[in-house]
Amino acid sequence: MSDARLREDICYWAQSMFARGLTGGASGNISVRTEDGGLLVTPTGSSFGRLDPARLSRFDERGQLISGDAPTKEMPLHTAFYETRSSAGAVVHLHSTHSVALSMLPDTNPDDMVPPLTAYSVMRLGRVKLLPYFRPGDAAMGDAVRSLAGRRSAVVLANHGPVVAGKDLEAAVFAMEELEETSKLALLTRGHSPIGLTDPQIRDIVQHFKLDWDA
Ligand SMILES: [Zn+2]
Repeated sequence: MSDARLREDICYWAQSMFARGLTGGASGNISVRTEDGGLLVTPTGSSFGRLDPARLSRFDERGQLISGDAPTKEMPLHTAFYETRSSAGAVVHLHSTHSVALSMLPDTNPDDMVPPLTAYSVMRLGRVKLLPYFRPGDAAMGDAVRSLAGRRSAVVLANHGPVVAGKDLEAAVFAMEELEETSKLALLTRGHSPIGLTDPQIRDIVQHFKLDWDA
């Protein structure tokens, strides 16, 4: 896909997520792999509500900034995914309410933080890893993602927000939407003994759709 089209797509999806209240103010960032092996990244301090396609940060294949504004200070999160998941074509990070709420509850399982309530959460997310809290911009968040060695496509930084990688931007956005909606379902049904998918139902989905389900 051409750079021009990728720039348009980044701005379209960012605006869409902003309009739906998935991330506010100047929070959230997106990166997308370009055809030449570089990256297009949303700039630091920019709002998803009004991104300028011409000002996106453009990196070459060696990781050098070659045009646009300075990138998000949460770059370590993005580069850690590209370094460890060769299938990653895009990474989306938001400050979205429901997954952050779930990250703060004491009985949330850090190794499988979003319960398997629907088939699509299993299909699009696999198991979601809860990572600890880090100061914004702390390079240690990248190390935490790297320590997963590419086994997870979706993580949530405690008290901060989710980060999801996909094969392309649309896949990453759809997975992010599933993460936020399933977190919302988990919160809505909390304390009501919800009946989620059973282990055989999950195995059936994993086998049928040939998913990379991290054990
Ligand atoms: Zn953030």
